[in-house]
Formats: sequence, C-alpha cells, structure tokens
Amino acid sequence: MADLEEAKIVGTPALDGRYITEMDMWPLECQEFNRLYQFYDNLREGRFTTTKCQKCGHIAFPPGVICPKCWSEELEWVDLPQRAKVVTFTETQAGAPIGFPPPIIMAWLDFGKNSPLKQLLGRIINCAEGELKEGDEVKLVVFEVPSHPIEIKRETEVRDRVYYAFERVKQAA
Ligand SMILES: [Zn+2]
Repeated sequence: MADLEEAKIVGTPALDGRYITEMDMWPLECQEFNRLYQFYDNLREGRFTTTKCQKCGHIAFPPGVICPKCWSEELEWVDLPQRAKVVTFTETQAGAPIGFPPPIIMAWLDFGKNSPLKQLLGRIINCAEGELKEGDEVKLVVFEVPSHPIEIKRETEVRDRVYYAFERVKQAA
C-alpha cells in the first residue's frame, strides 16, 4: 500500500485519493479492463485515433471493437486530424460535477472536408468563460487524469491514465 500513497493522484481527489469505483469519472484504460486500450496508448504518444473497418471502410468515433455498419470485427487504427473549427458550443457555468471546474464547454467541432471524421462533440479546456467564439480554431490536448489501482496476482499496481480535450489555438495579434 505504500506505493499507493507515494503516487501523485490516485483515485478520487475529493475523497483524499481513496479509490471508489462508483465515483470514478474516467475510463479504465489498461489492457486488462478495456479492449480499446490502444486508443489511450495512442493518446499517450500524442496521437488522436479511431477505428476504421477493413471490410466496408466505415470510420467510427468513438472507436469500437465492432463495425456499427457491417458488424465486422476486422478494424484498424487510423489517425485523425488534431485541429478543428468550432461550429457551435455550450458553456456550463454552475452546477458542474466534482472534478470538473467550470466553465464546462462542449463544442461541436468541424474537422474539414478531407478528414476521415467530419464532426465531433468535444470538450474545450484552458478557456475562460466567454472567451470561445464560433469559428475559433482548436487543437487536441492530452492531459493526465487520476490513476487507478489494479490488483494483479495480489499485487496492487497503479496505472496512469490520460484523457483528451481541445483548446483554443491562440491567434497571432
Ligand atoms: Zn464495416
């Protein structure tokens, strides 16, 4: 257990780091728990990816383990663009859940005609209330989220986790 205390953020910050599964806001990303662990491994390498069907060519987001169009399980990972334009957005200024400091900004993002994924609902971070405008360019940001403990053969290991969002590309003045 000593290792757990030494790790930076484990579990639920609001509960002094104790790990309570029901209050975990982030996916379990490791191979033991998640068949889409490759998505998170790719994020750790700075890649934004999803799955493409090798049978019918359909590109799904979020990535999956089966094609939603033709049910094929023969999928491959493809890279997505990391920049998009804000089409429209909402800002939540009060009543945000624990661990999500306001404003919570969700934006409908357009990746352009040449992107395999045209549009996506994404979260915008590092942005003050009222700062974001329609038409702004945003880019992918990968950040660390609380790790989680995992029991493997009676040993507790702490697994780091990451997640993604988007932030404004600052325009040159
Ligand atoms: Zn398919």
